[in-house]
Amino acid sequence: MAEELPFRKEIDFAYGVPSELMPGIRRIVANNPSPFTYKGTNTYLLGQGSALALIDPGPTNDVHFDAIMKTAGDARITHVLITHTHRDHTDGLERVLTATGAKTCGFGRVAIDRGTKRTSPSGSEFVDRDFKPDVVLTDGARFEGDGFALTALHTPGHAPDHLCFALEGTSILFSGDHVMAWNTSVVAPPEGNMRDYMASLEKLLDRNDNVYFPGHGGRALQPQRLVKAYMLHRRMREQSILECIRQDKTTISDIVPVVYRDLDPRLVGAASLSIAAHVEHLVARGLVISEGPVTNPTRLSAA
Ligand SMILES: [Zn+2]
Repeated sequence: MAEELPFRKEIDFAYGVPSELMPGIRRIVANNPSPFTYKGTNTYLLGQGSALALIDPGPTNDVHFDAIMKTAGDARITHVLITHTHRDHTDGLERVLTATGAKTCGFGRVAIDRGTKRTSPSGSEFVDRDFKPDVVLTDGARFEGDGFALTALHTPGHAPDHLCFALEGTSILFSGDHVMAWNTSVVAPPEGNMRDYMASLEKLLDRNDNVYFPGHGGRALQPQRLVKAYMLHRRMREQSILECIRQDKTTISDIVPVVYRDLDPRLVGAASLSIAAHVEHLVARGLVISEGPVTNPTRLSAA
């Protein structure tokens, strides 16, 4: 099925150099490009006063860390806000905290199986651990910075602890990995949940944001259109998967090459997980029967 999504790939940046997107919003792109992170993870520095807040410290990377500290200059980073605890957003956290003494702010998470190695949606491994922010931001919570304020929106789907941040008095939303302009978000179990993701997209449709500043890639303009396109895209994909199962493509491994043609081999794992997320959502609604936990070889049938 041909699906044309209005991706916007351009982003004007250089690694290690801050870009001022608006007065009081500076972005630094980390040098961790990949098929999952695009050019790299975006770190945002907010504020123009003597106290700054940072959104997502990004990966462990000397150039990135130095750029953050240099950009802050004489101002102090007092708070680090976390959109979600995936490694590409939080590996650099400890170092920033040590250097600044900042407080952490986020939704927080409890490890499912503390201390064990788990696979992230991008296929990389991480050690499952708790994240207990100093300032817990639940849905609708307000964060007051020096000369600005943010409202947290709980938007699970890509990750259970995912937050977007709306900048008060503007139409700007920091959208994390929930909605990005360069590509769709990876929704892969066990981290990802398709029902939550669709509900979190719906949540953004009720808003009047004009621009999203995402976790990867450049800004998203006319974001409501993008959100609608992403919802349609997922509904069409779900339909294709259901069609496959009806036509006796009875495992995820059978479905992947039908739904994703000419797939980059590096993305087969993520594609399989994405289909698993859709299948779980279909099973939950009684449209598909799975003979066991939804994994690649599990037999599926239409209900
Ligand atoms: Zn990310």
